[in-house]
Amino acid sequence: MTKFTDLGLKPDLLSAITKAGYDTPTPIQQKAIPLVLEGRDLIGLAQTGTGKTAAFGLPLIDRLMGAGAKPTPKSVRALILAPTRELVNQIAANLTAYTKDTPIRVVTVVGGQSLNNQVKKLERGTHILVATPGRLIDLCDRRAVFLDTVTYLVLDEADQMLDMGFIHALRKIAAKLAKPRQTLLFSATMPAQMEELSRAYLTDPARVQVSPPGKAADKITQALHYVPQGDKTELLKDYLNKDPDGLSLVFARTKHGAEKLKKNLEASGFKATSIHGNKSQNQRDRAIRDFKAGEARILVATDVAARGIDIPGVSHVYNYDLPEVAENYVHRIGRTARAGAEGEAIAFCSATEIGYLRQIEKVMKLTIPVVGGERPIEQKPEKRGGRGGGGGGNRGGGQRRSQPKPANQSHGKPKRNNRRRRKPAA
Ligand code: AMP
Repeated sequence: MTKFTDLGLKPDLLSAITKAGYDTPTPIQQKAIPLVLEGRDLIGLAQTGTGKTAAFGLPLIDRLMGAGAKPTPKSVRALILAPTRELVNQIAANLTAYTKDTPIRVVTVVGGQSLNNQVKKLERGTHILVATPGRLIDLCDRRAVFLDTVTYLVLDEADQMLDMGFIHALRKIAAKLAKPRQTLLFSATMPAQMEELSRAYLTDPARVQVSPPGKAADKITQALHYVPQGDKTELLKDYLNKDPDGLSLVFARTKHGAEKLKKNLEASGFKATSIHGNKSQNQRDRAIRDFKAGEARILVATDVAARGIDIPGVSHVYNYDLPEVAENYVHRIGRTARAGAEGEAIAFCSATEIGYLRQIEKVMKLTIPVVGGERPIEQKPEKRGGRGGGGGGNRGGGQRRSQPKPANQSHGKPKRNNRRRRKPAA
């Protein structure tokens, strides 16, 4: 079995890894760490929960430690871009743990927080900057930071960044970076646009893949419950009551729906909190803190939260509403069974969600075992903007890629292209 000591990392880092409680490297770490240490560009196809932050973070820190010399004011050596504030904070929290006993400095910049504080943090220069693209451009425009000394670039959750319309921001940022540089691209899926992105920014990249995109971690037990939309809340309560000690993440389609559900659960005596695009940064941080600490045992979320949060003890993921984008199902259920733990993913499917279910099962290449209810006759999903469905209300924080088209909509006159880009998080 490969051990961390076999990977060529510096002793200081090995002790940080031990302190973090890691025993053996995960498959993506075994494959990626030696390549990054060699200086190779890399495309990592890995889903959440595989340990990919350490897969790029550890060798990056190792290389920065080897380079010596303090960063000059307003300069950056390694830039890590991620789509959401939560993911930025998560990455930075991991890197801060790994760098605790080293001189390596980690700074974050994200939207929704004081610009002045971030300007101050950048003044002294940093080894590693973890950022959302929008806020970083803002800070570059204000000349609070200069990126011409960036020799390491990491694009994390690159597919989601493209999805959220960050492509122009990425181009703008890439043009400011040093050349040559080492670039690492991590993504759960590899849409065609990603191939373009990798051709533009990576040189002769090595590819590592730990499980085919779309395949959920093996430790997740999946189950499907057919249920009319109006009965979902009661069904959820039944499930939650069966497992009072569990830590449950519940996904709703819209911001409005997530909030309504959270309030309903609270009114029934459940300790619930919520995270979605209508919450301020402070509220989002508090919700995650409460959930992590077990003070709230239920977190109701939209997809905005799906990728960034890493909570080790999540025992159950409920797809209260099925996602319209099949890949988001993979990301959602990847919130449980992280790093070797076991978890359950339970999906609720109403008559209007059969089309989404079909897409999910196609992407996952499996049939989710049915544990309750009867398969209803398929109905067309309600038009967006209506108040129907468990989510109800306005378009929420769910990222949309392509809208899976239920079979019964496949004929008839062409529809207006209703793809809209979600406003970037930063
Ligand atoms: P990530 O996929 O980077 O979000 O990591 C998922 C979780 O696994 C995080 O809580 C990490 O701290 C944890 N983790 C990463 N690498 C290891 C490892 N080698 N052993 C145990 N846990 C790990």
